[in-house]
Amino acid sequence: MKRSWFPILMVVALLALLGVLAALQYVWLGQISDADKDRMTRRVQTDTERFGEDFNREIQGAYFNFQTDPEMWQKKDWTQFNERYDFWRGKTVYPNLIRDFYFFENAENTPILQYDPAKREFTETGWTDEIKKLQTKALAAEEKFQPVDEEQFALVMPVHEAAKTFDRILIRKPDPAPGLTKSIETMPFTPTRDDLPKKTGFLVIKLDETVVKNQILPDLASKHFPDGDFNLAIVGNRDQTIFQTENVTAADASVKLFNLSPDNLIFFANKDLLPKIGGSNSQGVIINQKVQSSSVSTIRTATIKTDAPKKETSRFEFELKNEEKPRTILRTNSLPGDGNWTLKVQHSAGSLDNFIANTRNKNLGVSFGILGLLAVSIVLIFVSAQRAKVFAQRQIDFVSSVSHEFRTPLAVIYSAGENLADGVAREEAQISRYGNLIKGEGRKLSKMVEQILDFAGANSGKKKYDLRAQDVREIIENALGECQSLIDEKGFAVEKDLAENLPLVKADANALSQAIQNLIFNSLKYSTPAEKWLKISAKNGGGRVKIAVEDKGIGIAPKDLKHIFEPFFRAKAVVDEQIHGNGLGLSLVRETVEAHGGKISAESELGKGSRFIVHLPVDG
Ligand code: ADP
Repeated sequence: MKRSWFPILMVVALLALLGVLAALQYVWLGQISDADKDRMTRRVQTDTERFGEDFNREIQGAYFNFQTDPEMWQKKDWTQFNERYDFWRGKTVYPNLIRDFYFFENAENTPILQYDPAKREFTETGWTDEIKKLQTKALAAEEKFQPVDEEQFALVMPVHEAAKTFDRILIRKPDPAPGLTKSIETMPFTPTRDDLPKKTGFLVIKLDETVVKNQILPDLASKHFPDGDFNLAIVGNRDQTIFQTENVTAADASVKLFNLSPDNLIFFANKDLLPKIGGSNSQGVIINQKVQSSSVSTIRTATIKTDAPKKETSRFEFELKNEEKPRTILRTNSLPGDGNWTLKVQHSAGSLDNFIANTRNKNLGVSFGILGLLAVSIVLIFVSAQRAKVFAQRQIDFVSSVSHEFRTPLAVIYSAGENLADGVAREEAQISRYGNLIKGEGRKLSKMVEQILDFAGANSGKKKYDLRAQDVREIIENALGECQSLIDEKGFAVEKDLAENLPLVKADANALSQAIQNLIFNSLKYSTPAEKWLKISAKNGGGRVKIAVEDKGIGIAPKDLKHIFEPFFRAKAVVDEQIHGNGLGLSLVRETVEAHGGKISAESELGKGSRFIVHLPVDG
């Protein structure tokens, strides 16, 4: 009892363990995915922001570097501008980014100047439609002045009138809204429009569109998103696509580009001054290279009233400390807070969520696949171990039953031989009886040996069949003939029902006859004394010839019926009844029939009889 339950318990325990492992795997993979998602979301946001910072820095570099003193334009002394130009070219990676510089005054009907890098000076040139457009916009803009002209890829920088006491410009990111209110409260006065320095002219920095689109943006894309896992698209204010690696439908991260808020303008920064600016915000940047003093102290954002009724605009407030009376200088809002373009980044799987979910599903699939494979292997090992056990038991039974089968004929042969040797039988009739006895038992023995050899041959795949077109009736008659002596001996009545004109079948006549003989022998062997009857029939139908061997013998229990064609199988009832046999006969019959391309089936009722039907395909 203990022996048979143990393996089953083991298998159940192992399967349960696999179930627990699968549940743990599921939970853990879920946790890992959440952590992965956080990490990847942070990473894509950082990469996107860095992309934006790098791009903006390049544009800001091309803009703020060219802030010049207003006197330069009056005196037409280009030394300062040339210095700036050389400085910028020395620092930038994209010296072709700026295509042209133009300057025009803050008034209609004035000449236009263009920078000539070869002559290193601004010279007068003709107005083009494009520059005219820029001038019209700049002159009309007043408060809403926009330094970026996205359409023309141009940066427009106002040149302010000289402020005697103001020889430095500090530009700083505006404080957030709450700080704004506070700084107004502490301000000593409310600045008005008259406090603003006047614009005297405008410097136009024309950028090269192809350098931006074909050099800077692709370079930044491969720098920040080198793996190609993400699709990038940059769209302009009018929703036009500026650049894209792939279409972006829903962004995982986005950032504003083409932004002139110099919160990261380290490129041109006078870094020594940074710590002295004070406050926790150390993002302030000194733009003017001429600044030698570090006396800039307070920077606040203020709100001033403009001419337009009920309108207020944010301003940057600069207070210079090194003067006797600290003076606040205001600049116009030439620092737009937002960029003109938007960089949108989307994972190539559709979204980060999709990607994480896909990866998780793949991992789950692989893990569950492996666990499932393990479970199937455990079950298969268990089943085949059980089968091997049953088979081993059958082989032991086979050896003992074969030995038993051999013992009886051997005993008969031995005693008949002994009698003959001792001269017990002297009369001719007696001697011939002994002779026939020895012959009969010898034949039985050799049949048994043949059957065993047949089985061994069939199993090693060495058995060859000589298939030819054969007449089924002839084969059946031959099989019956071979069994005739036993039929007579047992006193059986044989009924024959062989249809006329049976088609030929492709068969090995000897092997097929042997198979039919096996079925007939079984009918004789498993008969009851009351019903000594067997019937053999053959008919044609559905492209097959059906040969049936029928008896009214002991019959086969339904639970045994499905096993009778297995090698070594013998029903418990026949073993208990001590009916001799080795359990190989039917397995050999099946083997033979299948080698002929046919099949065998059996019907039986316990105590009533059995019928074995061989189905063979018709030749041709
Ligand atoms: P063997 O007859 O040597 O035992 P077989 O392979 O010929 O081996 O038959 C397997 C088993 O099928 C038999 O042990 C018996 O239980 C059952 N069997 C076969 N033929 C018959 C039959 N005609 N009537 C009843 N039982 C049968």
